[in-house]
Amino acid sequence: MNKNPTRTLGIEKKWKAQFNVRYRKLKGAINRYFLEAVPILNFEFNYSDKAITEFVAFLDSEIKDKIYDNITDPQMFWQNEYLNRTYTRGVNQANVNIKKAYKGDLDTVNLRGGAIPSLSTGVISPVGSTGIHLDALQILYTRDYSELQGITNEMSRQIARELSQGVELGTGLKDLAARINDRVDKIGLSRSKLLAQTETIRAYNIGALNEGQQDEEIIGEKVLYEWSTAGDDRVRDSHRARDGKFYERETAYSLIGEIRCRCALIATPESAITPQVKKENTKERKKLQKL
Ligand SMILES: [Zn+2]
Repeated sequence: MNKNPTRTLGIEKKWKAQFNVRYRKLKGAINRYFLEAVPILNFEFNYSDKAITEFVAFLDSEIKDKIYDNITDPQMFWQNEYLNRTYTRGVNQANVNIKKAYKGDLDTVNLRGGAIPSLSTGVISPVGSTGIHLDALQILYTRDYSELQGITNEMSRQIARELSQGVELGTGLKDLAARINDRVDKIGLSRSKLLAQTETIRAYNIGALNEGQQDEEIIGEKVLYEWSTAGDDRVRDSHRARDGKFYERETAYSLIGEIRCRCALIATPESAITPQVKKENTKERKKLQKL
């Protein structure tokens, strides 16, 4: 079981499942191209630059369709749904953590938490919002759209190489389709799933950092971020060494987002950071890790 202190595994799984479905459809289209459409055109006996160019154009349009739904605006892209969900969870959890630890009078402050742009409209809910979450989400959407483009571009490049090698060696069509689909799996699908895994955690933590910053103004004191690992033997040593330590926003931001990292940031008002709080946090974390 992939223990994960952000508790976003469900979101990550759904995001990955989307990639599974989409790349499976892409492979199906590639198989049909070689095994059904192309033999009719007598492609096998006419390996040529023209045939390669035609396939590359076909592949390009299938990727746009199956992976991107022909969407070219990063703000309208399907994976934003998962980024929005995990970011929102990070915001809400930071809010809960700050409320729980805050020593001042909570009746006199109004922690927002819910001021997150809805996905359909991109409009932030109106109550006293600074728009920090809207800005952050737009950046996340664009960043992860271009990360995915980097992945599918590399996949296409490797496919084109398989194709020209296949042509040079006179590889049969069935073999060629298998080699191409191997690149779809090993480059396209596997790197996309890694992106989903890493970015689910990163977006959660960015949500926590931004909500912490927003709440600083309201509670009138600095918010720090406690590093929390999954506590199992898959945690890298450098991250285990951070467990239970408190970081300033900029430092915390620079530490998140490593590939496959599952660590969470726990937003905490500075005045609440006492030895007692540290002990309580450790206890609660151990409890969570047993779930
Ligand atoms: Zn980590």
